[in-house]
Amino acid sequence: MSLYLFPKTIVAILDKQRRKFFWQGGGTKKKYHLVAWKTICLSKTRGGLGIKDITKMNISLLCKWWWKLETENLLKIREVYLRGRVIQTADGKRILFWKDAWLQNKPICVLHPVLFDWRVPFDRWLPPSMFEEWIDIINTTFSFNFKQQPDEISWKWGGKKIFTTKSVYDHLNQQPKVRSEHIWKAKIPYKGNPSCVFCDQIESVDHLFFQCPVARCIWGMVGSCLQASNVPGNYSQYKQWIEKWLPDGKVVHHFGFAAISWALWKCRNKAVFDNKVIRHPAEILIHACVFLKYWTCLHKEERQVEVLEGVKTLLACTH
Ligand SMILES: [Zn+2]
Repeated sequence: MSLYLFPKTIVAILDKQRRKFFWQGGGTKKKYHLVAWKTICLSKTRGGLGIKDITKMNISLLCKWWWKLETENLLKIREVYLRGRVIQTADGKRILFWKDAWLQNKPICVLHPVLFDWRVPFDRWLPPSMFEEWIDIINTTFSFNFKQQPDEISWKWGGKKIFTTKSVYDHLNQQPKVRSEHIWKAKIPYKGNPSCVFCDQIESVDHLFFQCPVARCIWGMVGSCLQASNVPGNYSQYKQWIEKWLPDGKVVHHFGFAAISWALWKCRNKAVFDNKVIRHPAEILIHACVFLKYWTCLHKEERQVEVLEGVKTLLACTH
């Protein structure tokens, strides 16, 4: 009763048995039901006999789970659950607009992280590029072929399309460890053209992430936040630079760099492969802030507020 929501038919069968037992006891002789069952189920103070109403008891017990979810912080695990859940969209009533992969093969919050971060409230001003992104999503949503039947939920991990604890455990267990050194040894794929998409100079790792005018502008904004008098020109300089200007923020030294380089890399790819060019380097820094915010849960709980404050300060530098 505390695990499943009983269907009405089951409740009716159980109540029929209970009524029979109440009026006839163990005997087989049929007896009249002198008072309505509903009245019997009322509390004694309200004129009933205090016999439990199955549906109401069932709901009360299930509510206990919601209470546990909120008070014991189990909602954090929802993200893992949502990653394994697959939704076959039909009438769209069960989908989570931003977090389900219902419109494309990935959730909208993953495809449009900046917009996702800005979504509430949506009455604030959106930069033109983001406004276009939002209009694109609306257009795709309106052209989606919804059907007059309920959405179907299935399970991605484990092969049988149904949820199993084992499938989640196996999935969590197989996450590869990412070592950042590989990133630095990796060659940047040129699309037939070795020049930088932002400035036409030869593209290299140091150029893209540090020496390109776009990168310098971003580091300049970060530097102004930290009251730094210079900007780093490569990764080893970055390590000394951040150590000097943010000595108390060791936890974010790696995260900060990862967020900025990841945002730059994604933006570079969008320009190379989709011909979508940014209007201002600040957009990249906004993206980086979104990543930092998104990754906050990776820090120890006592550090999270500090990191979020840092992200706020950094965001303020983009205006
Ligand atoms: Zn460049």
